[in-house]
Order: sequence, then C-alpha cells, then structure tokens
Amino acid sequence: MNTKDRQFGKEDMLLVVDVQKDFCPGGTLPIERGDEVVPLINRWMRSALDAGVPIYLSRDWHPRHHLSFKKNGGQWPPHCVQDSDGARFHAALEVPIEAEIVTKGTRFDQDQNSVFDQTGLACWLHKLGIKRIFVCGLALDVCVLASVLDGLEAEFEILVIKGATRPITPEGGRNALEKMREAGAVVLEV
Ligand SMILES: [Zn+2]
Repeated sequence: MNTKDRQFGKEDMLLVVDVQKDFCPGGTLPIERGDEVVPLINRWMRSALDAGVPIYLSRDWHPRHHLSFKKNGGQWPPHCVQDSDGARFHAALEVPIEAEIVTKGTRFDQDQNSVFDQTGLACWLHKLGIKRIFVCGLALDVCVLASVLDGLEAEFEILVIKGATRPITPEGGRNALEKMREAGAVVLEV
C-alpha cells in the first residue's frame, strides 16, 4: 500500500454509511462494537474537511412497515424507522454542516442496501468530478458491501477504511472484504 493512497486528493470524497443508533449497541439491530467506528470516522471527517473533500453520510430510513422487517417477511428486526430516535446518527458522530445526507430504504416495495441504489448519487458525484471514494461505516457485510460493489460498478475507485467498519458477523465481514477486493476495491488496513 502506497502511503499516498491514504491522503485525500481533489477528486476524492468520503462516504460514511449508516452510522445510526439502531446499528450500534443499544439499538434494535445492534452490530457488535459498531459504536467503535465513531471516533475514527470523526477523525476522517475532520481530515476531509481540512482537505476540502466532500463528505456524504447515508442513512437507512424505513417506513414503519418496511418489507425488510421480519414481521413483514424480511430478515431484520424493525430498525431505522423514519424520524425515530433509532434512525438518528450516533450521538457522538460529529456530522459537519457541510456534509450531504443520502437517504435510502424509503421504498415500500424493495430494500435499498446500497447508497447508490436509485438515489442518483453516482450521477451527481460524476458531475462533481469525483473519481475516488473512501468508504467506512456500518455494516461491513451488508450496506457497506452493497455500496462498495455498486460504486465500483459506477466506475469509481473505492478505498475501504477497514478499521472504520464493523460486520454483523465475523465470517460475513471476511467474505465481504474478499468480495470487495475481487471486484477491485482497495482495502486500507487502517
Ligand atoms: Zn434497513
């Protein structure tokens, strides 16, 4: 790994996936040690701000009776219901006023794990001249994975900040990293 890959350039952006209360300990779909990513992501966001690099934060934002919930035939407990406390970003996440928020998972007829799924984000980032995306957040093996794969598909270079992610299961996390690498992402061992 060349150290220049860890420094922000003018065609870079930072993407923070779903660091919401419900995905952290105490939430309805808690990821073990999910909250540990927060201080690290705060540091990355400060570096991005210093470098003038755009920051985008996604949030899962479901209707009350979303189809991804178990009672509606999905695989998850209810989580990130629109305007609920659990859908808020983690309280210690220092969301800069300059950051853009990407809302996903609002559809009644399908789930959207990827921040690029029908959000228009890829189109917008291409317009801004963004070439390279640093990705971190939750969960490594679900929404981070889906976003990384879609980002590569949309022809961005993707760098995954491994230490600033957590998986739902360790095995899922290992598989996700393998899939990301196979698809062409660079996994930063930081
Ligand atoms: Zn969800």
